[in-house]
Amino acid sequence: MSKLYALVIVDVPAMQTNHPYTYLVPKQLHDQVAVGKRVIVGFGKGDRHVQGFIVDLREDLPTQAGVTLKEVQEVLDLEPVITQEGLQLADWLADHTFAFKIRCLQVLLPNALKAAYSKTLKRLQPLDDPQIDALFGQSDEIDLAQLPAQFQNQIIHYRHQGKVEIIYHVKDKVAKKQVPAFKLLLTPEQLDQVAVSPRATKQLAMRDYLKTLESAKLYLQKPAQAASGLTSADFRTAAKKGWLEQSQVEQYRDPYADKNITATKPLELTPDQNFAVKSVQAHIDQKDNRTFLLQGVTGSGKTEVYLQMMAYALKQGRQALMLVPEISLTPQMMRRVKGRFGDLVAVMHSGLSAGERYDEWRRIERKEARVVIGARSAIFAPLDNIGIIIMDEEHEASYKQDEMPRYHARDVALWRARYHHCPVVLGSATPSLESRARAMKNVYTWLTLPKRVNGQALPKVELIDMRNEGKYAPVPDISNTMLNAIKDRLIKGEQTVLLLNRRGYSSFVMCRECGYVLKCPNCDVSLTLHMDSHSMRCHYCGHEEAIPQTCDSCHSRKVRYYGTGTQKVEEQLQSLLPTARIIRMDVDTTRKKGAHERLLQAFGNKEADILLGTQMIAKGLDFPDVTLVGVLNADTALDLPDFRASERTFQLLTQVAGRAGRAQKAGQVLIQTYNPQHYAIQLAKGQDYERYFQTEMGFRHRVGYPPYYYTIQITASYDNEAAAAKKMFTIAGELGKILSPQAQVLGPTPKAIMRIKNRYYYQLVIKYKHEPLLEDYLKGLLIQAQTEEKKGLKLVIDRDPLNFI
Ligand code: ADP
Ligand code: ZN
Ligand code: ZN
Repeated sequence: MSKLYALVIVDVPAMQTNHPYTYLVPKQLHDQVAVGKRVIVGFGKGDRHVQGFIVDLREDLPTQAGVTLKEVQEVLDLEPVITQEGLQLADWLADHTFAFKIRCLQVLLPNALKAAYSKTLKRLQPLDDPQIDALFGQSDEIDLAQLPAQFQNQIIHYRHQGKVEIIYHVKDKVAKKQVPAFKLLLTPEQLDQVAVSPRATKQLAMRDYLKTLESAKLYLQKPAQAASGLTSADFRTAAKKGWLEQSQVEQYRDPYADKNITATKPLELTPDQNFAVKSVQAHIDQKDNRTFLLQGVTGSGKTEVYLQMMAYALKQGRQALMLVPEISLTPQMMRRVKGRFGDLVAVMHSGLSAGERYDEWRRIERKEARVVIGARSAIFAPLDNIGIIIMDEEHEASYKQDEMPRYHARDVALWRARYHHCPVVLGSATPSLESRARAMKNVYTWLTLPKRVNGQALPKVELIDMRNEGKYAPVPDISNTMLNAIKDRLIKGEQTVLLLNRRGYSSFVMCRECGYVLKCPNCDVSLTLHMDSHSMRCHYCGHEEAIPQTCDSCHSRKVRYYGTGTQKVEEQLQSLLPTARIIRMDVDTTRKKGAHERLLQAFGNKEADILLGTQMIAKGLDFPDVTLVGVLNADTALDLPDFRASERTFQLLTQVAGRAGRAQKAGQVLIQTYNPQHYAIQLAKGQDYERYFQTEMGFRHRVGYPPYYYTIQITASYDNEAAAAKKMFTIAGELGKILSPQAQVLGPTPKAIMRIKNRYYYQLVIKYKHEPLLEDYLKGLLIQAQTEEKKGLKLVIDRDPLNFI
């Protein structure tokens, strides 16, 4: 046999390049290597063993004089873990997001394969090789790590023939869920024979109950206890007497099991909905890669449109992929998709345990699941025949990953849609300026749903000017107008949603004598008051200390709390409305797995009158009895030094306003603000996206921001400030030489929060339209910066950054 060479992208920290290294494949591994598999190879002078991905295999290689190639040491996978599509996608990702290729390959790897796991080999039929069969002994499953190397090739053949199966056992941090079960050992006739004292009433009851069951069938004990009124002690006694056998069974890890998801049927579409669905269907049919912007006001029935588009793709034998911003924040959407497509749906998001994630991934791979719904990283789901990609709330910032590779899920969606020749639908009530501008230029096809399905007008929005009303407010955070509106709902038995906008805002401690604010010793931020732990905490580094009694600076005792938190508002609210039932939803009450959904369900069941929460309640909720939405503090994000601050404020207020009046009853929205004149607040009041778009585009044009310009942000950090600044000025100098006069460089400047965990951050932003030399310069910078990592540099290049602070 001729020689075989593997081109491998290796994982060597601080020495990444995006070029593969060439390795010789030894004879005994010829059958095992394949493109997309992981291997162990030697690297560098010490020949240390590192992992890598095979990206190409070649039979002939021009011999490089004097170079002796190292050999592939070991092949880690029995089947490729990266597909052909994945390899191309990784190339593009590395290029587009200024990332190391190895990191892009790793992001494609299913989470399950990144978690700790062990592999077993399962025999599905006799293997007619006595040596291998002997390995199995009595059982049909053996630990793959114990398999002698000389049998590897044979096992691969068996696998292709379907005679064996490899099973990954994910080591779950959450212990497997075990529940008690039992099996009846006697027949009803035998039970009649057993002697029971007439005074042993419990045993008599147990015997009567057991006679109603089938023998040798496995029953779960909990439901049996509930049905019979007997206790677990009674079951133990019965087991001791030999009537039944107790055991533990593993409950299937379906993250959404027993949540009573009701099946739904397609609704009859309104004309606007119908037009949208038909337009996209045509492109599914033609296998045409087209991007649609579906702009529909809140309550216009976008979800039904998504569901029918996906159903159509499935009917054509293709698959559907749907992204939602943060799936833990939108359990209602997940329920609606499961309600329509049932077991065909796989759910992928960070709230699942490693085991659950693995189960869902396997269901996709085995093609049992043909609909995938998930948060950002679900865009990499291993679907091989996508018919439609849907991205709900496309304007949401959580679609951008803020570590390498810094991709935006929208860009990946467009890439995969090109690969699969399918349409993409971007949906929102408040599209990002970038997407709406593309729709205006016909790069995207614009579809609109201008009216609510129920025929109701959008809820009426009123502003409460806290500069005046605040003075007379009964409690600091709730004005009289707001209070009366809530009282009115309590009397009518209707529900209220209250939003406390916490972005860039928190409760801090300030001295009234000298103005001293307690800050984190490691970071340039004030410490946040936490009433649950009675301490001051830093949200960046986790530093924690006691709540001060006196001022550190002037020793005055007049230290006061400023700002507000959901807990504080809850207390204020409860003091004013002692009988109101309040559900509070924030990071503290939703930390536990599934808590988020439980709270929402309780609210949906009308177990509470008021839902009080942070941003997490603004999206996607659809409760018919909510007739009042109150925003307690509209302004907090407006002052942030980020040109998108007003866009975020407008989007948030419009989203949350849309939670009111979604069914028969009309809705009302009240917004408390100290900036009633600000255009973002004024236009949110009118829920006037069109005027908002015009106004904001005018502003972006004047100051030269996206979507008129592209932006790239470079950040350098060191543990000493001068080094960070010096690095950024060097980069700025180099940029000056390669950029055309049309480009602009903002900075270098210290970041708004310059110091975090005792590291100093400097940044610059490049604004440009067309710079032929820029990409190559930045790619070189990325590679070269690694040499300074030992000295403590961290360099980040972020294309189209969403956060400027
Ligand atoms: P959006 O996502 O645009 O805010 P939803 O998809 O949540 O709106 O729809 C709002 C409500 O209207 C939902 O309760 C939904 O079930 C209902 N709905 C949507 N389309 C129709 C239709 N064609 N006929 C009747 N009800 C509909
Ligand atoms: Zn800190
Ligand atoms: Zn002081």
